[in-house]
Amino acid sequence: MLTTEKAAAWLDDYARVIHENAAWLTDLDRQIGDADHGSNLERGMTAVEAIPREEYPDAASLLKKAGMTLVSTVGGAAGPLWGTFFLRFAGALDEPGDDATVVAAAMRAGLVGIVQRGKATEGDKTVVDALGPAVRVAEQKASQGASLADTLTAAAEAAAVGRDATIPMVARKGRASYLGDRSAGVQDPGATSITMLVESAARTLA
Ligand code: ADP
Ligand code: MG
Repeated sequence: MLTTEKAAAWLDDYARVIHENAAWLTDLDRQIGDADHGSNLERGMTAVEAIPREEYPDAASLLKKAGMTLVSTVGGAAGPLWGTFFLRFAGALDEPGDDATVVAAAMRAGLVGIVQRGKATEGDKTVVDALGPAVRVAEQKASQGASLADTLTAAAEAAAVGRDATIPMVARKGRASYLGDRSAGVQDPGATSITMLVESAARTLA
């Protein structure tokens, strides 16, 4: 079972990584967007860090609160998308199964929420290009009986490959799409920061 301590460790680790990488994420967004992705996520994760943890007794309620906090504190595209990921992830944690199966299903639910909101498909140069492969690999590993640690490690590797594959892509969703062909050659900021979230999960949830 995903404990509230592990969920809190995930949020805290992700906040740390976002603080460390905010300038770089914003710089990627400067090249193909409006130079705010790092500062957006940093504002959101600072608010998430300030959630009074003792008021949220289980992982689902804490992660749901984190999602609502991201929606309300982060503007633009990322707030609703990242917030929806956490809300849907939290909402799927009561499914039956071993830890790897439950977490893979929760990641799937988060991805479905992002796709419903943003309408991106793989190849559009968005967060979906990293999260999609990560979810597929997580489901595959979990169905083979892999441990949660192995499942999340493989998912993080798949996310990183998907992130790197966004570099040559021409954006078809979000602000970067306004650039047309000139969006090629830069790694998508959202694919970069969601990969950090999966890597963080691999460090903390297992
Ligand atoms: P904004 O684009 O409003 O300035 P951010 O800069 O915080 O918001 O986030 C940009 C990231 O959001 C992009 O790099 C991309 O990964 C993701 N994104 C933007 N639009 C969409 C969409 N429609 N579907 C999925 N992801 C999207
Ligand atoms: Mg932006």
